Amino acid sequence: MQLLKNLHAYVWQGKDNNCNTYLISNCLDQNRHLIIDPGHIKTKGTGEPALEMLLQGIQNDGLDPGAIGLILLTHCHPDHVEAAGFFQTRLNARVAIHRIEAEVYDRMGGKADLLLNEGQLKLGRLNPLTVDILHCPGHSPGHVALYWPKEKVLIAGDLIFYRSTGRTDLPGGDLSQMKQSIKRVSSLDIEWLLCGHPYGHPGLIEGRDEVRDNFRFLAQQMLIEA
Ligand SMILES: [Zn+2]
Repeated sequence: MQLLKNLHAYVWQGKDNNCNTYLISNCLDQNRHLIIDPGHIKTKGTGEPALEMLLQGIQNDGLDPGAIGLILLTHCHPDHVEAAGFFQTRLNARVAIHRIEAEVYDRMGGKADLLLNEGQLKLGRLNPLTVDILHCPGHSPGHVALYWPKEKVLIAGDLIFYRSTGRTDLPGGDLSQMKQSIKRVSSLDIEWLLCGHPYGHPGLIEGRDEVRDNFRFLAQQMLIEA
């Protein structure tokens, strides 16, 4: 579904676990698109056709999946990255991931084309669109969130969900880093907070007040000083 002129969300509709996928259209040269976290090819439990559902959703928005030029991975967990190889090998797209996560991605048989660092990332050369890559460890050591200042959009990955946060009990997880990362992004000006999973809620938190409420709730739950 389309959220803004160049922003599309594919909220996971299946029963098994998979992530939400986001797409920024026409931001790369030759009007190619960026996607964030393409998710599973097939889900692990019941084998739901996650990639097929994603490709269908992209087409339903009037976009050509073949025009995807870059895949940005918020972190290297299978439910976010598994389908990246499809876009990379079949559609000739490049894969970007934080340099810390790239080591894990490598061990999983993936190959990153672009290593991300904290800081600005300019997409496209002719009409560059600037996003901020925010290194937000906690769920995993090289987890990143993507902030698009012009549209006040935060694509949060598994940092924040509606009324909850990413887990910190997986390898490389760290609760105190998680608290710091959440505190850090809570000061951003956000109109759309886009979460990595639809846990009890689609995970698209719209409007500054709703976003602030969610941060307030998390601060109370996690005893983060506001
Ligand atoms: Zn994860």
